[in-house]
Amino acid sequence: MEYLGIELKKPKVSFFDFTCCEGCQLQIANKEDTLVDFLSLVEVVNFREISSEKKDHYEIAFIEGAISRQDEIERLEKIRKQAKLVVALGTCACYGGVNSLKKRFSVEDVVNEVYGHNPVETLPVKSVKEVVAVDFEIPGCPISKAEFESIILHLVLGTEFRFKKYPVCVECKQNLNHCLLDEGKICLGPITRAGCNAVCINGKLPCYGCRGPAEENNWPSLKQILTEKGFSPEQIDEKTSFFNSLTEVTKNES
Ligand code: SF4
Ligand code: SF4
Ligand code: SF4
Repeated sequence: MEYLGIELKKPKVSFFDFTCCEGCQLQIANKEDTLVDFLSLVEVVNFREISSEKKDHYEIAFIEGAISRQDEIERLEKIRKQAKLVVALGTCACYGGVNSLKKRFSVEDVVNEVYGHNPVETLPVKSVKEVVAVDFEIPGCPISKAEFESIILHLVLGTEFRFKKYPVCVECKQNLNHCLLDEGKICLGPITRAGCNAVCINGKLPCYGCRGPAEENNWPSLKQILTEKGFSPEQIDEKTSFFNSLTEVTKNES
């Protein structure tokens, strides 16, 4: 098969879910209008949401979800040995995601509250790269299907995919949204990597930073603006730590 005169490889790919809601896999399985094109680029050999097929041989493993149990660690290590390329899929896999809220409590309290008299084994939440080596990360809660498909195209063509360097604010202003900071809300668009088309703000919800930090961001300035607007350090921390995706930026207190 050829695309733009270049022979396409058709790698065997697998999707595996760990601690998560499986919404990122659903993004891929959804939107049937582009699914056929996607399936012409890769051979899917494991994808629990759409097929009962299960094979042990694959080249690319997409890992969805955070890691929060011992058996997940062992399963992930086995996948890492098999796959040539391991891709963390979604904010849970890249950063821990919403599962990281568990960090705000003791593991014991979480187990008591959630499982009551039927406790289960659970560990502090880890991202995929904290357990095994990761070759590529695709952030988003959920991922952007359009971005995912573009990444797959680059992968099979062997060309480099580049994430947008600028923050969500750029897409937000392109969409002519009214700034939510001016409406008294904490919006993390100024420090968050674009690529979602500012979907939350388009729906009048502030950005929680699920896509991780923008390469070109200015956290000290945003922090100063939020402080001047009267938000307390606790309110600011509550938002910036929601997905555990902005720690790399917000830990710099300067
Ligand atoms: S990143 Fe969000 S949508 Fe994707 S699996 Fe995690 S919670 Fe679900
Ligand atoms: S701070 Fe939020 S609402 Fe304001 S421009 Fe940036 S992304 Fe849009
Ligand atoms: S607006 Fe922010 S929270 Fe919403 S999808 Fe985009 S990066 Fe994630």
